[in-house]
Amino acid sequence: MQSKKMYSYQIKFIALEDTIGFELKSPNENEVEEFVYDIISIFATVDENDRPLIISLQNNSLENKVEISNFVSKYCEKLPQLNALKAFFNKLKDDDSFFFLPNIKMELAESTKLRDYLRALKEGLDFEELNSQTTELFGDLMDNYTLGGVGDKRVEIGEKNKLHRTCRFCDRKSDLTTFDSKAHAISEALGNKTIVLYEECDECNKRFSETIESDIVQYLSLFRTIYDVKGKNRGKGKGGSKKFKGKNFDLKNNGNVELSFQSEDDRPIKNDEDYNIKLEAEQPIISQNIYKALCKYYLSIIDKKHLKHFKKTIDWINGKIEIDRLPKIAEMTSYHSFAMQPKLTYFLRKTEDKEIPFAIGEFYFTCKIFAFIIPLCSQDDKNFLEEIEYKNFWKTFRHFDKTKGWVFNDFSNNNKRDFTINLNFELKGKKASK
Ligand SMILES: [Zn+2]
Repeated sequence: MQSKKMYSYQIKFIALEDTIGFELKSPNENEVEEFVYDIISIFATVDENDRPLIISLQNNSLENKVEISNFVSKYCEKLPQLNALKAFFNKLKDDDSFFFLPNIKMELAESTKLRDYLRALKEGLDFEELNSQTTELFGDLMDNYTLGGVGDKRVEIGEKNKLHRTCRFCDRKSDLTTFDSKAHAISEALGNKTIVLYEECDECNKRFSETIESDIVQYLSLFRTIYDVKGKNRGKGKGGSKKFKGKNFDLKNNGNVELSFQSEDDRPIKNDEDYNIKLEAEQPIISQNIYKALCKYYLSIIDKKHLKHFKKTIDWINGKIEIDRLPKIAEMTSYHSFAMQPKLTYFLRKTEDKEIPFAIGEFYFTCKIFAFIIPLCSQDDKNFLEEIEYKNFWKTFRHFDKTKGWVFNDFSNNNKRDFTINLNFELKGKKASK
């Protein structure tokens, strides 16, 4: 097949709270030119000699919103991602500042600088000082890693055409397997509605949902019910809202969180200062499966060109090889970065520095954050089991290291175990901790 010349143009917008980018690709040069002309004319002004002038730093206005909406209507059939652009502008308040960046390739450090600039502008801070703080926090990280992620924006990952698909987890193509059901990069039961993975075959999808996914869903059930995370819609009604039923309790959320116990003995013991509650889940869980599920999510969202480094990891997820010891997973509770839809950030090392892991994921679910190393990667010399190795990694991620409240949990256990959650309520404050 002869390949046609493709024309393309990238546009990026950076606001304080949000970033959006898209690319138009077409073999038709005129089409790309018209697209570029249309979007640039929204933001361009003319200089004193009547030449068009593009100023990157812009302020949002009602006119912008209207013009963007017209632009999106014109092109959204060709480029459905553009609908997110409308949402981006609707979220911006009038007069909020943002950067308009036509066809500019940017390193993360530079876009971070732009965001610092917006923050300094909004909060009346000193930009130089703010930026040096950010560099202090993220400097090494940005030199060593590229990163990206998924969250509440709609993304469809991988090859659209079923005939050309290869499953990321079993390497089979459509002649040997099928791609009929909709596979989610992150479990739908955890509230993910937007991140779809084309490159997961029906068999792998079914196997994951029956094995590793049910363990992570159960592990997070408490938060799923408390925060009323909607999973799969079944049938009529509100649907999807989850109950969490255990051996000794029932947890419901019908607008209010209701916890009831099966018997008097299971009711919490009241001390002077606090309540201690022990919730025993109905199903036993396998800790290692939770780790596997997180890695499965990670491998679903990275570019497929990196998958060659994770052949062993995939064998492990599929149960073809076993590991007894895994690096710790760092967990914390944070209301600062609360996520109703699960979010996943991936870090991929771009240097040859083998003191730090090649691949790290940061998973957000309601008030929980998990930071984990992807094990068995061919680009790593170390397995980060020794404390000194792990500490080295942790120090590089200074934004983790500087935040207090992390606990480091071992998910190596590969046997079914009863799952209990210990809750502790302080009577005076409203703090609940696991
Ligand atoms: Zn498969």
